Amino acid sequence: MLPVSSTIETPFDTTLIPGVFDRPGDDPIFSLNAEASRRAAEGESILNATLGALMNEEGRLAVMPSVSRAFSGVPPESAAAYSPISGPTAFLEAVTRDTFGDSPLAEISVATATAGATGALAHAIATYLDLGQALLTTDYFWSPYRIIASHAGRRVELFEMFDGAGGFNLGAFEKALEGLIARQGRALVLFNFPCHNPTGYSLDEAEWEGVAEIVARCATQAPVAFLVDLAYAHFGAPGSENWVRHVERMAESAQVLVAWTASKAYAQYGARVGALIAPHRDPEERQRIANALGYACRGTWSNCNHLGMLAMTELLVNEELRAAAEGERDQLRRLLDERVRLFNAEASRAGLRYPRYEGGFFVTVFTDESQRAAARMRELGVFVVPIRGALRVAMCSTPVAQIPRLVSALVEGIRAGQA
Ligand code: PLP
Repeated sequence: MLPVSSTIETPFDTTLIPGVFDRPGDDPIFSLNAEASRRAAEGESILNATLGALMNEEGRLAVMPSVSRAFSGVPPESAAAYSPISGPTAFLEAVTRDTFGDSPLAEISVATATAGATGALAHAIATYLDLGQALLTTDYFWSPYRIIASHAGRRVELFEMFDGAGGFNLGAFEKALEGLIARQGRALVLFNFPCHNPTGYSLDEAEWEGVAEIVARCATQAPVAFLVDLAYAHFGAPGSENWVRHVERMAESAQVLVAWTASKAYAQYGARVGALIAPHRDPEERQRIANALGYACRGTWSNCNHLGMLAMTELLVNEELRAAAEGERDQLRRLLDERVRLFNAEASRAGLRYPRYEGGFFVTVFTDESQRAAARMRELGVFVVPIRGALRVAMCSTPVAQIPRLVSALVEGIRAGQA
């Protein structure tokens, strides 16, 4: 056995390769969460609006009983066996149907199983960008996009998400996409709508139309892949599901990709069940895509959680279970919608600046001094995540009764930050 302390000296401080030896440790959101939990355990009244999981009004993780039933119904021997590398065919068909419904895209899609939407993003980045190339996304974005890209030797480029009137900045998107294509000859665009994390923004019809027009046109000049990260989409306002119609238009020239996940839509974060879905009208290209994605699976995790995929398949294809799941999700959505309504009422009365917010797990409140504002809020026992130019507020983990406290803390934090 190796002695714990040794007198043998080596000339090396680290065996890690130079590119990784100074990686940051804990994700800052998890560190904030740890501090919030510690202070709550010590008896303080803490409002923790940092984590992206839907909590019920009692502060416990909201789960969907139909999903648990589907999991417990999977025969142990099936769950214990390896899944096919790209995922069971029935699973891939079920998630494709869940995503595209009766859109013609459902008939021309290939898909591969992934470890949540994170896995789908990783596969898309490694498959549609060469080493050193950059993906394009909004300047407010889920920060692991950068980690996933950098870990794969790719980069992130950003465009300004909002225009002067607080709407989606189509002009900035168009300019950035054209510039990227001119520099690298191809593009991968990541869009997390409806219910964007961290801003809570959902594109309206005119904005989607504008995006579709730009993508469809640019894709005639160079290979363009457009990925919709559906993480929170099921919690959007009525009509937000229309994104499918707009990507149908893009799919005429661009490669549409969809990151599907059971994490938020089925409140099953830990099961790591996801898929990358890729519609294409040419069967030969579909085969190439399926091969490339299957290879990516083999080269990363081999195959995904079989139990989770079998359970989600049953949930999606069994009429009774599926209806139960939709009913349960409606309840969760109503819970969240009530918070969204009250937040909008209180925050607009208090004069907070934030984007249009109609549903979804998060909203961001703008302030230039976000670090100082968040620090002041922590003194008041209210935890939010400071990001560049804003505070990210997790409405998914804020009970209705705490919203007035949240809004007053935001007002006080922003005031103190600017003082
Ligand atoms: N995309 C966004 C915008 C997210 O916020 C998250 C999780 O927080 C994910 C993707 C990944 O989710 P998962 O890998 O659990 O499906």
